[in-house]
Amino acid sequence: MISDLTEKMLSGNGQALARLITMVERETSDLAEIMRVVYPHIGSAFLVGVTGPPGGGKSTLVSRLTSIARRKNMQVGILAVDPTSPFSGGAILGDRVRMQQHYLDDGVFIRSMATRGSHGGLPKTASTVAKLMDAAGQDIIMIETVGVGQTEIDIMEAVDTTIVVLVPEAGDTIQTMKAGLMEIADVFVVNKADRPGADYLVAEMESMLHQNQKQSWWKVPVIPAQAVNDIGTEEVFQQIERHREAMESSGNLLAKRAKRRRTELLRSIEYRVTQQVMDQVERDPQLAGYLDKVEKGDLDPFTAAREIITSQTLLDNWLRKARGI
Ligand code: GDP
Repeated sequence: MISDLTEKMLSGNGQALARLITMVERETSDLAEIMRVVYPHIGSAFLVGVTGPPGGGKSTLVSRLTSIARRKNMQVGILAVDPTSPFSGGAILGDRVRMQQHYLDDGVFIRSMATRGSHGGLPKTASTVAKLMDAAGQDIIMIETVGVGQTEIDIMEAVDTTIVVLVPEAGDTIQTMKAGLMEIADVFVVNKADRPGADYLVAEMESMLHQNQKQSWWKVPVIPAQAVNDIGTEEVFQQIERHREAMESSGNLLAKRAKRRRTELLRSIEYRVTQQVMDQVERDPQLAGYLDKVEKGDLDPFTAAREIITSQTLLDNWLRKARGI
């Protein structure tokens, strides 16, 4: 059943992709098996993150960039992480309006994820979903988030190129610095350049970037745009391509992806070990005693953790479980 689905998905079937994404989001027990099959097929898509304050024009920009990619015959995946909607149905409805023109296009796969109720696992899930899209044959995958917190910054770590969209409104530059967007941006877009203050913001960003140039192989550009009028959007697309080329020729794409895989391994181990240990602690009366003492404040969590991890009971149970006895 899983192999049926993955096979269909790998041949580009959108319905199979959608079903697998749902399974991944629900963290089904088949997750490891799905990823084992999918992993050899990933790595050809280019991952672009688009972040910035709400209402800045990110969706409009993503929609424009999608049209450009389609004209180049690229398959496009869009993952909209929408923290403003109370439930995923809302996110889907919101996207329908903004992405209307792409919904009927077979070459575009759109998916929404609501952050609410995701219990902090969102960056991992978003990056797993992007992998499925990659394996299904998307050439470019755009992940859209609202750049306000650590979660969004973590998601951006999982992409190759990060675009930060700003608008010429008071205090935006300060917000950008505060939210840590300065560090993660590969390309800045000053959208709503039809509004007053855009030129000033572009100049200000450029001067700030000039003083804090991060890498020798890439100078972060600041592009004025009017997404709604499709002005400056070609330039944004070109910068995405230029950034990809610069990443490739400098060896940074390989390095970044290698680091990402390493982080994924560590997070995966951490997650599994924690789950298994907690499972055993709750089930074993002796180990549960530690939990009880910590909860009551009779024992400090550090001592308890050391004793749980080195306890013979835990190690015995662990081995038995690992050997399938
Ligand atoms: P998001 O929340 O960042 O995804 O922003 P949206 O793409 O939904 O855009 C928010 C609003 O800004 C919409 O009403 C857009 O039509 C509008 N908008 C987008 N780009 C521009 C622009 O370049 N100029 C102006 N004036 N409005 C824009």
